[in-house]
Amino acid sequence: MKVKFWGCRGSLPASVTHDNIEYKVRFALEKAIRLGVQSSSALDEFIRDLPFHIRSTYGNNTPCVEILGGNEIVVCDAGSGLRDLGRYLVSQPFSGPRVVNILVSHLHWDHIQGFPFFIPAYMQGTVIRIWGCHDGLESAFVNQQNPPCFPVLLEDMGANIRFHPLDLHGPNQIGGLKVTAIEQPHPGLTYGYCFEQDGKKIVYSTDIEHQDEVEDPMNPYVQFYRDADILIMDCQFNLADHLYTKQNWGHSSNLIAIELGVISKAKTLCLFHADPFLDDLQLDKFLQDSRRYHQIYAPDSEMEILLAYDGMEVEC
Ligand SMILES: [Zn+2]
Ligand SMILES: [Zn+2]
Repeated sequence: MKVKFWGCRGSLPASVTHDNIEYKVRFALEKAIRLGVQSSSALDEFIRDLPFHIRSTYGNNTPCVEILGGNEIVVCDAGSGLRDLGRYLVSQPFSGPRVVNILVSHLHWDHIQGFPFFIPAYMQGTVIRIWGCHDGLESAFVNQQNPPCFPVLLEDMGANIRFHPLDLHGPNQIGGLKVTAIEQPHPGLTYGYCFEQDGKKIVYSTDIEHQDEVEDPMNPYVQFYRDADILIMDCQFNLADHLYTKQNWGHSSNLIAIELGVISKAKTLCLFHADPFLDDLQLDKFLQDSRRYHQIYAPDSEMEILLAYDGMEVEC
């Protein structure tokens, strides 16, 4: 199985500012001058050695995560990253009807706002199944395209778009994958999803506020996350944010995500739903701090910690 991240920001798309770009260019050029880089053939190695926040970006899109390995397209959430997935899909040759399954964690705008810009939804012959556990699933998608919010009604988009309730109590089969769901604390509730195939397990658990229940042996999330090959976890905040200013805002800290990842023996933890107010430099530091805490909290743990960025692929 494989995960491809199309959108990783929480709450709102993030912008890359003029200042951000100028900082990156200046940093790289000053380093090139210092090192005496003289030929374009040396550039590949030079760029590879630059810090991630200089040579790349964590991206701007709100949540959209593709789960690959089944026999249909399977996507978690329809944030603005769905627009880029749509552009990619229509650039690829395909034969026969295309089926896209979208599992929605919840109906906050950052998780559905990409759907009106999903090009395959305008193409006859495409089948789109939107799955979720909320009663208002269909009306949320319909309403965001009703006047005066958007010029095209959902019913006029062209594809065959259907809404399907997910069974919270039993495994569901979606696109060749076994899918189970769990209810999560967040304003208005959210649902986490576990995908399994051929002994591999990927968990998508975003917009969840873990409090201090981490060490509780009855914690249902430890069981849900248990032995995940890839655990994608909300950690919009650092500990200080979470404790002092943003408690009950519905998101977790990186420290709690790490502790839960270690306790549930996840192999790779992907920190997700990044704060849109943080720039690439601040996010690089967030990742370094997270890895440092992991070393202190569980020195023997071999869990890999990544900070998800738009375009990142992780295989298991
Ligand atoms: Zn969100
Ligand atoms: Zn939310």
